Amino acid sequence: MKNSIAFAAGLQILIVGCIFLFMWIRAEGRRNVRIPEIKKENIWRCSICTYVYVDSEEDELSTCPRCTSINKRLDE
Ligand SMILES: [Zn+2]
Repeated sequence: MKNSIAFAAGLQILIVGCIFLFMWIRAEGRRNVRIPEIKKENIWRCSICTYVYVDSEEDELSTCPRCTSINKRLDE
């Protein structure tokens, strides 16, 4: 009887530990995702108004948020 209580308590600690580990991994993963969004490749400079902005969604063509003109990726 005492053993089953100890087992249940141990199991509970294990479950709580797993939840914290899972939350930590998720938080860590989210932090890692945010870093590549500010890569140099995601920084665009508008060829019309020279406005510099970040667009992580587009790869080849991007719309300038200031003058709404379409910009092509510059080969560097
Ligand atoms: Zn522009």
